[in-house]
Parts: sequence; structure tokens; C-alpha cells
Amino acid sequence: MNFQRFCTGVMTAGALAAGCPTAFADTMNDPYSQLPTYNGSDLELTVDNAGTRFRLWAPTAQAVKLRLYDTGRNTPATDTIDMTRAESGTWTATLPGQLYGKFYTFSILDNGKWLAETPGVWAKAVGANGDRAAIIDFAATNPQGWEADRGPELKHINDAVIYEMHHRDFSVHPSSGIVNKGKFLALTEPGTKSPEGLATGIDHLKELGVTHVHILPSYDYSSVDETNLATPQYNWGYDPVNYNAPEGSYSTNPADPATRVSEMKQMVKALHDAGIGVVMDVVYNHTARNDNSNFSLTAPGYYYRHRPDGSYSNASACGNETASDRQQMRDYIINSVKYWAEEYHIDGFRFDLMAIHDTETMNQVAEELKKVNPSIFVYGEGWTAGDSPLPIERRALKDNVWMMPDVAVFSDDIRDAVKGHYSNASDRGFVTGKPGNEETVKIGIVGATAHPQVDWSKGNNSTKPYAKNPTQVINYVSCHDDLMLTDKLRKSMTGEAENDSVRQRAARLAQTIVFTSQGTPFMWCGEEIFRDKKGVHNSFCSPDSVNAIDWSLKAANADQMEYYRQLIALRKAHPAFRMTTAEEVARNLVFDNVKEPNLISYSLKNNANGDEWKEIKVIFNGADSERTVNVAKGNWTIIAQDGKLNAEGLGTTRGGKLSVAPTSALILARTK
Ligand code: CA
Repeated sequence: MNFQRFCTGVMTAGALAAGCPTAFADTMNDPYSQLPTYNGSDLELTVDNAGTRFRLWAPTAQAVKLRLYDTGRNTPATDTIDMTRAESGTWTATLPGQLYGKFYTFSILDNGKWLAETPGVWAKAVGANGDRAAIIDFAATNPQGWEADRGPELKHINDAVIYEMHHRDFSVHPSSGIVNKGKFLALTEPGTKSPEGLATGIDHLKELGVTHVHILPSYDYSSVDETNLATPQYNWGYDPVNYNAPEGSYSTNPADPATRVSEMKQMVKALHDAGIGVVMDVVYNHTARNDNSNFSLTAPGYYYRHRPDGSYSNASACGNETASDRQQMRDYIINSVKYWAEEYHIDGFRFDLMAIHDTETMNQVAEELKKVNPSIFVYGEGWTAGDSPLPIERRALKDNVWMMPDVAVFSDDIRDAVKGHYSNASDRGFVTGKPGNEETVKIGIVGATAHPQVDWSKGNNSTKPYAKNPTQVINYVSCHDDLMLTDKLRKSMTGEAENDSVRQRAARLAQTIVFTSQGTPFMWCGEEIFRDKKGVHNSFCSPDSVNAIDWSLKAANADQMEYYRQLIALRKAHPAFRMTTAEEVARNLVFDNVKEPNLISYSLKNNANGDEWKEIKVIFNGADSERTVNVAKGNWTIIAQDGKLNAEGLGTTRGGKLSVAPTSALILARTK
């Protein structure tokens, strides 16, 4: 996530500059850590044969009221109940019967003052805009066949090919041919076509061959008014309100609490039926509101970190940061992701600004999720957006990922080295002819592990190996943040001869580096058809006219789509690109001694990782001129050449002196 996600959020330079001292690093000095915690599975709402039971964790409350309603908003309470103080900082109330269809809120008496009503922090169903929690029968929300529903089985995270998407980007454009535009249900529609008759929607994902979609925030967030959906609204959704309920604007009826639950499950089921897993983007690091967040209205102060002067610390650059180092918050994160995995069958989690969380929390997250389903994987942004009171050595940073064996981090190394710096639009990278990035691209190729032929001291961003194994790194050249690849290439490749056809070659080369590198490949939706975002750097609240994918581009850029499809097929068919340990990479991945700038050549040897190919030769030429390389004599199949790629082969060569076309990859393979 970048600074300034919200129209109202302002990055305070002070937070970065202050170098906030560690006010409460350890429980001894932290008054909040003296409070009792509660980790039972019955928090807030349980409906069973005994009735409808409520249990709110509000350890500092002087009194708690529960209010019942007939609707999700704008109606008076039908009942107000005083809750009873119970064990471990909780307050309880039990009502007879199963109150399905009713809504409820809590409010607490804090220092003699009644705070505003809140649906609590564990609302699993909510009315429009998430103001009131709803009591629904979850069993009735399950699509047919849900009990047997499973995501794809995965041995290792780097067997995944991740496609990041926003619901609205993917389906809202008229050219999508999709009925449920911008909705969860968009991904359940088979047979949708672009005006030119090419597959869109879920059929497009199947054709492309990705294994997982990573959906941008799909929990209930704040910035889109769910009561006014007739007016087009757009937001990425990094402004969480209710962490355990789906976002209403992606449902066909936000006012009906069961609809969003049921429709999100239908989406997951449809993707699973297509063999595609679902990764959720989760944003536990901050909340949309401060004093009026659901956290603050139930346990004021507890869930957040503060500066010594009592103000909110702000490592998220969005106004606050949560405190995963406190037990109730740590348990909350763990229980929340487990809930999504169990109730919605989610297959992976991407943690926004993960370094705001501590490494211990992230390790427990990964461990607990593996118990639910061993195929689930976890990755995140190994950085913060500002300073934090959490000591650096405890942060789930990229540089600390060696302490988190089952967690992966995004590689900003490969990202910036391949295409140029993310924040400097005109800066070029390896594929656009800028010399000096070769060693950092190699850092990406070896999955950020230690390798005898990589000189880490020449790394642009990191200067020592941070991943113990390549399974701990996510390789990418663009995502929802910053200029997407097409726009980045248009803003940096501005020479007279640099038209879109040259830029498409650069995009192919960039993604070829990503998809052949050790680690897990990740791409942003629409890059396969060379879509753009009109040059907008931070499109978090830009209109559909900027963010929506125009599916007519699929016909216009059919060659680009075919290249991506073949590239993904190549990776999936060949385990040599998916080694799981640093030792294997060091043994089987051998760089050739080439000295020219913007040229890298290496081999994957020894039938690496059980590959049918004995040796794969991978050569990248990021210069705008032809290069010559020496390849050992042998019976080589040409896999990629001059901007074309076919996983089954384009032809053959005997090796020797070979030319590598400008801005392209040459990939060769031999079986003996
Ligand atoms: Ca919402």
C-alpha cells in the first residue's frame, strides 16, 4: 500500500521523522497488556438451541447496552438490554429463541460517558454500510455443493500464479459482456464475451491459466456508500470497517445481510470449480476511523499503538496503526483469517503493510491457517508506510522474513530493477535499456536467496540475502499500486522509435523475467491485454473510466495475450522454475559470464526440481540492439525468441553463437 490511500487521509511527515521511541514494546510498561483477554469462539454472537447469546469483550467498560433492531438502519431500537459483566473482560446477555432477521449494536459506558453504538468487532453479517450487525443463519447462505467445495491443492506457494484484481476493474466496463458488473457474482458468469467475441470474466482467467486470483479488499470497508449504488463509486477498499463481513457494494443487495455472504461464497465456489484459488487482501494494520472505529468503541485505546504523548502512532500513513503485539489484537487477526478460511474457503491471504504486525503474530497466522488447510499460503508487504513504536527487529519486514519460514514478502528489488523506480515515472530499468540493474535483476532471479554468483553488495534496494528459501518471495513488476506496467512503459519509453509495439516487447520481457524467476509470480489484472490506467499513478478512488478494463483490448492485443498464456503454461509445466530451497537454486541455477550491460544469461541445470528438461537456457536482452551470446552445442528446442514464446517449442537450434533480438528473451531447452 502506498501513502495517501484515502481522499481524507494525509501522510504526516512527523511520524516518519520523529523516530518514535519504544513506548510499550514489552508488556511490563504497557497498561493495556494488564487487561484480561478472551479468546473463546463465542465472541459477540452465538445462535444455537439455547437461544441467541451475546458476549462482548469490553474490559474497561463500566456498563454495556445491547440494542436490537428490526432493520439495518434508520429505525428505532425495539429492545435495549443491559449486559452483565462476565469473565475475562467480557459482558454477556442471552435472549430466548433464534433471532434470525434481527439487527443489533453495542454501546459501552466509558469514563462516565456512553460511546456511540457499534456493531462490535466480530460482526459476521451487517446491514447497509455496516452500521448494525445482523443475525442470520449462515448455513442457509451456502451454495449447493459447498460442503464438498475445495480450492486447488498446492504443495508450495511458488506453484501458484497469482492474478491481482479489483472486482470493479474486472467486470464493470460495458465490453465485459458481464451482467453483474462490479459484483462478486461477476466471477460466477460463464460464457461472457467481449464485443469481438473473445472470452472475458472467469473464462478469461481459465484461458490465461492463472492458479489464484488475489481480490483487493472484499471485507466491509467505508469509502463506498452502499445506500447510493446508483451513483458509480470506486475505491480500492483499504479503509476497513467490519473485518469479518463482506463488502456490501460488491453484492446485489447491501441492505440484505445474507446476500453479500451468499454471493461471495458463490464467487469462491465458481472459481474453485474452475480450478482457481482465492486470495484475500487483508488490512488489519489500520482502521478507517480512529476514535469512532469499532475497536475504539468497544475497548478504547487497546487495539492501537500510541506515541508517548498519547496520540495515535501512524505507521500506516492512514491515521493509526493497530497493535498486533497485544494479545487480544493478535488473537483477533488469527481468528479472523481462520474464519475466512473456514466459512468462505479462502485459499490465501495477502497482508497489507505487514511490517506493522510483529513476526510472532505472522508466524502464528501461517501456522494456524496450515491447520485449517495445508494449501493456504500467506504473503505481504514487508514494509510500513511510516515509523512505528514496534521495534524494528520485531516487525514483519522484508529483511526479517528469514524469521518467518511460511510467510512470503513482495520483492521490490525485482520490481524496480526490471522496469525502473516505482515512484519516478520516467526512470527506466533493465528491460528499458538502463544499465546498472543487472545484479538486482539477478537477486530477483534467485528468489532473493544467497547465491554464490550474485553480488548482493550491488543490490539497488537490499544488499544482503533476505529470503532463506525462494518460497519466501513474491516476484512482480506491477500491482494495483503505482503506475501499472503499460503506463510505466509509456511514461519512461518516450524515444522517437518507442511506440506501443516496442513497449509491448518490453512488457513481455519484464514478465518473462518475473515468470521464469525463482519465487512466486504475481501480476496485475489486464496487463495480459496491455490495458492501461490512463497514466494515473494512484487510482485508489479514480473513476471507472481510469480503472475499468476495456476488454476490446483483448482482440487488439491478441499476440500479447497469447504470449502471457504461453509464459504461464511454461512455468506451470516446468518445476525447474519453482525450486523450493536456496540450496537447490545455488546448485542448479548457474549464471553465464556475460559482461555487457542489460544482458543476463543463465542455465537451470540437472533436471532441476525433477524437470523433464535437463537444461534450460534463459537469456534476457534489455537493450534496444541485437546481442550475440555463446550457447553450448547441443540439441536445443527454442522456447522463446524475438518476442514470441511457445511452451512446446518454436523450432530448434544446435547452439553456438546465437543472436538475441532487442528487448526480448531467448529461452532454450534440451532433454539431454
Ligand atoms: Ca462497506
